[in-house]
Amino acid sequence: MLHIGCHLSSVKGYTRMVQTALSIGADTFAFFTRNPRGGKAKEVDIEDINKFLNIIDQIKFAKIVAHAPYTLNPCSGNKRVREFAHMIFEDDMKRMEYIPGNYYNFHPGSHVGQGVDVGIELISEMLNSIITPKQSATVLLETMAGKGSEIGGRFEELKAIIDKVKCKEKMGVCLDTCHISDAGYDISNDLDGVIEEFDNIIGLDKLKAIHLNDSLNAPGSHKDRHAKIGEGMLGLDTILNVINSPKLRGLPFILETPNELDGYAKEIALLRSLYKN
Ligand code: FE
Ligand code: FE
Ligand code: ZN
Repeated sequence: MLHIGCHLSSVKGYTRMVQTALSIGADTFAFFTRNPRGGKAKEVDIEDINKFLNIIDQIKFAKIVAHAPYTLNPCSGNKRVREFAHMIFEDDMKRMEYIPGNYYNFHPGSHVGQGVDVGIELISEMLNSIITPKQSATVLLETMAGKGSEIGGRFEELKAIIDKVKCKEKMGVCLDTCHISDAGYDISNDLDGVIEEFDNIIGLDKLKAIHLNDSLNAPGSHKDRHAKIGEGMLGLDTILNVINSPKLRGLPFILETPNELDGYAKEIALLRSLYKN
């Protein structure tokens, strides 16, 4: 079973998101917990959430993958930016408990000149001050393109963060195909080698979700510009190798390609038709 979906607008609530997902052939989705460039979140709408939970209870739906805002930077050099990240993360963890057992994905952050080690320390500090053994959500560190001073362009950096977190069982990784290629992992020519490297450094048991994107740029470009499936430097064959890899089987695959809904529907249909059961 290929679990696949895309990023959806959260403006109209969970019920609307799951209905939209079903209408485009998806059985998972991603959404921003709040304005991706700001901090505001909607009021929790219990009626909407209950409706949503009812729907996904009755159908085969994979785990959903919430995305933190881009502005969240727990390893900024600026204390107020770090405090803002803490506040948002803490509030999002509370919100995740209304939809129990799902994933919350975030960009680890940019150390803005303080160095990778300081960055890793600050990120893990925030995680340790918020994540509890009782929560049902799993927090996913996203693999990054290594743009500027971004942390998470190397598997070793994500591993170092997880190593410092006390509730390791609440931690996982979301692998973004555009980002790891941009970071220099050559998944076009050696997908198995890259997966093996991930397994050796982080452990495949920690891999919980895939962001399935083509990339406008060549491996190692550190750019982070997503392309439609088959229209970038990775190409359709590489994307098909990813969805058909036995090691990645069963994970939720989330498209973050530059598409409107009809474009997503087409990509989902294409990938489902080329998935080898
Ligand atoms: Fe992301
Ligand atoms: Fe991503
Ligand atoms: Zn990206």
